[in-house]
Amino acid sequence: MSNLDLKPVATLCGGDASTGPVRELLTGRTVRLGESTQVRRLLPNLGRRMVGAWCFVDHYGPDDIADEPGMQVPPHPHMGLQTVSWLHEGEVLHRDSLGSLQTVRPRELGLMTSGRAISHSEESPREHARLLHGAQLWVALPDAHRHTAPTFEHHPVLPEVTAAGLHGTVILGELDGATSPGTTHTPLVGVDLTLTEGSTTALPVEPAFEYAALAMTGSIEVDGVRVEPGSLLYLGCGRRDLSLHARTDGSLLLLGGEPFEERIVMWWNFIGRSTEEIVQARSDWMEGSRFGEVLGYDGERLSAPTLPSVPMKPRGRAG
Ligand code: MN
Repeated sequence: MSNLDLKPVATLCGGDASTGPVRELLTGRTVRLGESTQVRRLLPNLGRRMVGAWCFVDHYGPDDIADEPGMQVPPHPHMGLQTVSWLHEGEVLHRDSLGSLQTVRPRELGLMTSGRAISHSEESPREHARLLHGAQLWVALPDAHRHTAPTFEHHPVLPEVTAAGLHGTVILGELDGATSPGTTHTPLVGVDLTLTEGSTTALPVEPAFEYAALAMTGSIEVDGVRVEPGSLLYLGCGRRDLSLHARTDGSLLLLGGEPFEERIVMWWNFIGRSTEEIVQARSDWMEGSRFGEVLGYDGERLSAPTLPSVPMKPRGRAG
């Protein structure tokens, strides 16, 4: 049950997201990830939980890790989502309970679909580049696909789009006729855009999608709003093109998708539809069942945090 039906919804976006183009600049909060990496968490954010099916956005670096271990995220479980590892600098070694062992490098797609259960670890390899800079993104799986078997995909080569002063890599979905090989389960797009100082572009976008732009480097005006690292500009939907102007050389991730209408419960590394599902997943992980085993990680696996004492209410993408 939800109260959505009580609201008049006759817009391109539908539901309770914005009803057209908006410009909502969100700042991240700093969160420790594992032992030695700090990230800026842009989604979920106050009043804004999702952009299409994109439901989690962490931006980290650039960090100088020449004399440090870098990223060290011990084995932990996932349910009901896909993880996207995306790097601009450095490398991340991915291990999972399917037996995958894969180094993901800059502008390669590491895409893990948890389905009903998977566990993985992510670490900077012992021999690593000086700089680490990237984003960790999650995509919520729709009900019809969230119980599937887990998979891991590595796509080292992705389609590219170019225009004057602009270079784009299509991470997921499609832009201007270029389609990523990564598997998706709802209509969405993720594009990495690099712009040359002074360039201006009108990027073709899908009016039925809502969008957000995550600044990676430099200073770029997105629909007239200056976006810089540490912030995410939520754009709503209803545009046919998106104006970009590079104040400096810079890069951003453009994330978009059809508004995700299902209500979800997101807790720790799990996405479900009820408190009961989350409680069961936590207990399965703690008992060592269902989520498999990650082999080869030098360290203990993560323990789940304590469950909140209040029931977890399924929530929509905003508010
Ligand atoms: Mn993870």
